[in-house]
Amino acid sequence: MDIISLVTERLQSMNPSVLKFLEKHLTVVDKYIRNVPFVEKYLEQEYDGIMDDLESMLKPYKESSMSFSALPVMGKSHDDILSEMASMAEKESGKWSDGHVSGAVYHGDADHIDFLNRVYAMNSQSNPLHSDIWPSANKFEAEIVSMTANMLGAGTIACNPDNQICGTVTSGGTESILLAMKTYRDRARIEKGITQPEMIVPITAHAAFDKAAQYFNIKKVTIPIGEGYAADVTKAKKAVTKNTIVMVGSAPSFPHGIIDPIEALSEIARKRKIGFHTDACLGGFILPWAEKLGYPVSHFDFRLPGVTSMSADTHKYGYAAKGTSVVLYRGPSLRHYQYYTITDWPGGLYFSPTFAGSRPGALSAACWAALISMGEKGYLDATQKILETADWIKAKIQDHPDLTMMGNPLWVLGFTSKTLDIYRIMDQMTQKGWGLNGLHKPSCIHLCVTLRHTQSGVAQTFIDDLTDAIEHVRSNPKETNGMAPVYGLAATLPVRSIVGDMLKKYMDVLYKV
Ligand SMILES: *Cc1c(COP(=O)(O)O)cnc(C)c1O
Repeated sequence: MDIISLVTERLQSMNPSVLKFLEKHLTVVDKYIRNVPFVEKYLEQEYDGIMDDLESMLKPYKESSMSFSALPVMGKSHDDILSEMASMAEKESGKWSDGHVSGAVYHGDADHIDFLNRVYAMNSQSNPLHSDIWPSANKFEAEIVSMTANMLGAGTIACNPDNQICGTVTSGGTESILLAMKTYRDRARIEKGITQPEMIVPITAHAAFDKAAQYFNIKKVTIPIGEGYAADVTKAKKAVTKNTIVMVGSAPSFPHGIIDPIEALSEIARKRKIGFHTDACLGGFILPWAEKLGYPVSHFDFRLPGVTSMSADTHKYGYAAKGTSVVLYRGPSLRHYQYYTITDWPGGLYFSPTFAGSRPGALSAACWAALISMGEKGYLDATQKILETADWIKAKIQDHPDLTMMGNPLWVLGFTSKTLDIYRIMDQMTQKGWGLNGLHKPSCIHLCVTLRHTQSGVAQTFIDDLTDAIEHVRSNPKETNGMAPVYGLAATLPVRSIVGDMLKKYMDVLYKV
């Protein structure tokens, strides 16, 4: 990380007004710094060093298992392949099944997984693109959408077919969000002639909204968070222009688990006749049940007339296998802007509702099976367990003199420390086998509580380990190993493109055999 500290130090020792100017024109600074040949060369060397270290961490099977940079001449036996995979799965299951990671696996009971796997196996050839061969896949998807819509307030909407909540099954939260943003872009272009579209997005909204802005050429107008880490309504209202196509709120946000003031935000959107998307990827399958259990949940779904679309991830708290989510719209005419059709392709009349062409029908089958095997009672009980566990952990964090909660979340528990380096505390937790999420701007970490953490003893161990970690950091103030410095710098480094470069190199490493 030397280059980062070097550059950071350089910039920090500069005249503050010059620095202010430079930060305003970051892309120019980036270009300037990188165009100096010795800096470029130095950077490359630094990157290589860091990536070599990373590689040994990211490739634990390099020595121990068979690897293929090209097809094997003769196929391997099924037994060999299965036993090789079993040994990797065995090595990897401990951490998540014991409830030592944040989020990641949301249900994870062996019976539940076995059941989903049987459903998958039965449907592994299914492709909803071929509705003539697999009408079952379309039935599963239609019912997944309907069940999710009804859970999120569709049933309360008066029987006007133009307003009926509809949607599609997608491959995950990111696809749901990308599709919704594309839908608003296309609607605004066709219905309002907007060619320079803008979306208003709280800073805490998921990266997928930024991805949509990049992919679809939509200007992202970021609004800050205010009181309690929720989106600032006044700033959102001021951000609306004649080019605004959609406003966004999270229920709750990924970083701090806070529900944005969806009612106030969606009213602004409704009055200005723009779209409003509630991102309930994380909360869609928790909040309806939390509300029934009497937790303080402000309205966030289609019961609010301004909410025109939502995303809810079945592969998170819907407890389906990875690879499904639902995007919902107020009214089929809005959904039409999502669809793709071509009528003059030599391959025939072609259409597809989402980004993919062929799709894994088996994942939709497993999703449908997860929903109907859980039922309302299953989701209610799971939510109760999760929220009770989270309440207990939250109280312990709030009571700890060295820790500060980020606002007042329900089950995604973001916290920081005003007395110690929170990233060093996270490092200590990593050494104890915990996988927590490191966040920045502001510096904090979070534990996203799932059913895994409701297993007996997990919450207690978490708090015991956290207490020990804090003690360790306090009694070793000079220790500087681990990832703490990297996290600290990644947040404050002025030259963002260096950090961006490193992330790209990281992905290159992931694809190395
Ligand atoms: C997980 C998440 C997403 C994106 O979901 P993926 O399934 O990872 O693509 C979007 N928004 C929020 C709030 C999330 O927690």
